[in-house]
Amino acid sequence: MVDKLNRPLKDLRISVIDQCNFRCSYCMPKELFGADHVFLPESELLSFDEITRVARSFASLGVEKIRITGGEPLLRKNLPELIQRLTYIEGIRDIALTTNGIFLPKQAEALKEAGLNRINLSLDAIEDRVFREVNGRGVKISPVLKGIEAARNSGLTVKVNMVVKKGMNEDQLLPMARYFKGGGVVLRFIEFMDVGNSNGWDLDHVLTKKQILNSIHNEMPLVPAEPNYYGEVADRYYYEDGEGEIGIISSVTDSFCSTCTRARISADGMLYHCLFASDGYSIKNLLRKDALSDEALTGVIRKKWSHRNDRYSDERKDGVPAKKKIEMSYIGG
Ligand code: SAM
Ligand code: SF4
Ligand code: SF4
Repeated sequence: MVDKLNRPLKDLRISVIDQCNFRCSYCMPKELFGADHVFLPESELLSFDEITRVARSFASLGVEKIRITGGEPLLRKNLPELIQRLTYIEGIRDIALTTNGIFLPKQAEALKEAGLNRINLSLDAIEDRVFREVNGRGVKISPVLKGIEAARNSGLTVKVNMVVKKGMNEDQLLPMARYFKGGGVVLRFIEFMDVGNSNGWDLDHVLTKKQILNSIHNEMPLVPAEPNYYGEVADRYYYEDGEGEIGIISSVTDSFCSTCTRARISADGMLYHCLFASDGYSIKNLLRKDALSDEALTGVIRKKWSHRNDRYSDERKDGVPAKKKIEMSYIGG
């Protein structure tokens, strides 16, 4: 099954909660997500039964990988139970989680036991001075490093994702690369993106893939590596001295829409076909209708995918102006 641009449906990203313990300036700036911000009540989040049902439908249409995200997904109660239920779905061969890592020391073991395969952990600095500013909550590095350790000790594969933004943390690029080089954790750099409507995005704040690459290569020579699989979002590079690899996710300056195989379910139960979508479809309303058969649910998802023609990052390069987008805390990265 392919969309209008001939792209198969392979991945499903599910945001399980819109709340977060951080206020990263590029995602949920504390000025806009203050004490009076209203988050979704539990009844408006998809239940585990609903998520499992939707995931089963997606799997029947070719989805093989599921990523759980948020907000901060580890704030969702009993998450390991959901992971375990997803592992029972025929066709699902990989379940991953994106997290800021703070709650991993308490939860990593249970997540691994439940069947989680991989973790992408977000960390944007290796110095407290910078990190405390970025996360907007004054949290230091050490609890995040403990989270990485806990995940690795539990046998989970860990990648670290760093959003690089000029004027925020570009001075952390080399210290982060030095810190993780040779340690068995792949570090991936993400260009600052214009997700949502509230992060004050400006092209001038984007440290480009080329700049990131040059900066690291000058000190720690790199050689390009082949993608691991069709549609991999990060361009991979090995360290020439054999001490591991890095990745760069260049959604802004070198977009990859032509191989985008991802569908997304937001925290409020909407189906989106692009991280930068303006419109979605309420899977939640559909699921909450009486007597919806599995065939009907799968039919709707199939039809929606077959009409998909999203290619926002390609259009951004062509100068197409942005429309109103969905906030990152809902759609989940
Ligand atoms: N709270 C979890 C975390 O931070 O890993 C999961 C949700 S977060 C929205 C998912 C990913 O989106 C994180 O890696 C985060 O760094 C990334 N992200 C958020 N806003 C971004 C932006 N404006 N540009 C690039 N990446 C962004
Ligand atoms: Fe929270 Fe993740 Fe957004 Fe940071 S990037 S505010 S940790 S959801
Ligand atoms: Fe996929 Fe949209 Fe990103 Fe393009 S802009 S790669 S279609 S999520």
